[in-house]
Amino acid sequence: MAYLDHNATSPLRPEAGDAMAHALAAGGNPSSVHGAGRAARARIEHAREQVAALAGARAQDVIFTSGGTEANALALWGAVQGAAEAGKRITRLFVSAIEHDSVLANAAAVAERVPGVRRETVPVTADGTVDLESLRVLLREGKGRALVAVMAANNETGVVQPLAQIRALLAGYEAYLFVDAVQAAGKIALEGEADYLSLSAHKLGGPQGVGALIVREGVPLAATILGGGQERGQRAGTENVAGIAGFGAAASVTAAPDAALRDRFEAGLKAMCPDAVIFGADAPRLANTSNFAVPGIAAETAVMALDLDGVMLSSGSACSSGKVRPSHVLAAMNVSETLARSALRVSFGWNSADADVDAALAAIAKLTARIARKAA
Ligand code: PLP
Repeated sequence: MAYLDHNATSPLRPEAGDAMAHALAAGGNPSSVHGAGRAARARIEHAREQVAALAGARAQDVIFTSGGTEANALALWGAVQGAAEAGKRITRLFVSAIEHDSVLANAAAVAERVPGVRRETVPVTADGTVDLESLRVLLREGKGRALVAVMAANNETGVVQPLAQIRALLAGYEAYLFVDAVQAAGKIALEGEADYLSLSAHKLGGPQGVGALIVREGVPLAATILGGGQERGQRAGTENVAGIAGFGAAASVTAAPDAALRDRFEAGLKAMCPDAVIFGADAPRLANTSNFAVPGIAAETAVMALDLDGVMLSSGSACSSGKVRPSHVLAAMNVSETLARSALRVSFGWNSADADVDAALAAIAKLTARIARKAA
């Protein structure tokens, strides 16, 4: 069995599982003042330190959420609402074309529902990198405080975005930078450019259903979930103690991948299928991710055929309401719809090994041979 879909969910690291088991066995509500409550609170605060260290942030700026999606939603709604309450109204939302659906959908809803907020898409170049010149033009034209949403690295292509340059660009304007670092965290160093930074535990070997939004000191944020005042009033609800403990443990042991497996996979693929296209290959990429297409092989067919051979990877297409549509990320990179329908992604992780690359290449060889026989 070769699991090559770490960008979807990375298997739980044993350290995370242990931390979760201890937290579950111990129980206790972190808001309780008795011993059990204080022990649960201590687990959360320890995890907060661990997650902050991963992101190069201060522990007190970490807000635990139910995952990356909630962190992204909180960033967008919370920033716009919080800024308005602080008398610093955000009127422009600049969102990169390759953001995760959770960013795209919430940004669209904010622009639709909050009067006076306009949304613009920041295009990417053919290699999948945010087009800095277009962002510069957007910032220069028009007036008003902006919230700029650019992810640290793309989940499909792995292309790493030029955050330092974007931060420098924003210096001349009244603008906040929101960075979805869900895929980048643990894989590349996060350099502290973001005002709002989102994370998700299950992409780095922690459990599903827990994430965090890190909000830089002094940056506005209004809570969107109100109730018992947990997370310093910024996200109510009894904390997912075990999930948070697992997140912290995973964050503390995660190590940046090297590109050896990915490079060996791509070299093998190219040797076998010289017409294979590797998306974003000319841009800086996460070392664990390869998004590619073999022309003539539909992604849906490939995912199912490889699965039968024990190789699990994902298609570069998103499935919504039963219909597979080609990826908005590849469309933004000007990849033709036909080629995009062949897009596949392999993503390696903490327990990947050479044998996984061998299995993937062997399964692809088998599939291409079968398709060639059919065509003959
Ligand atoms: N942002 C990015 C870039 C992602 O890849 C994902 C997950 O696929 C998310 C956000 C959503 O995170 P979660 O699954 O924790 O809601």
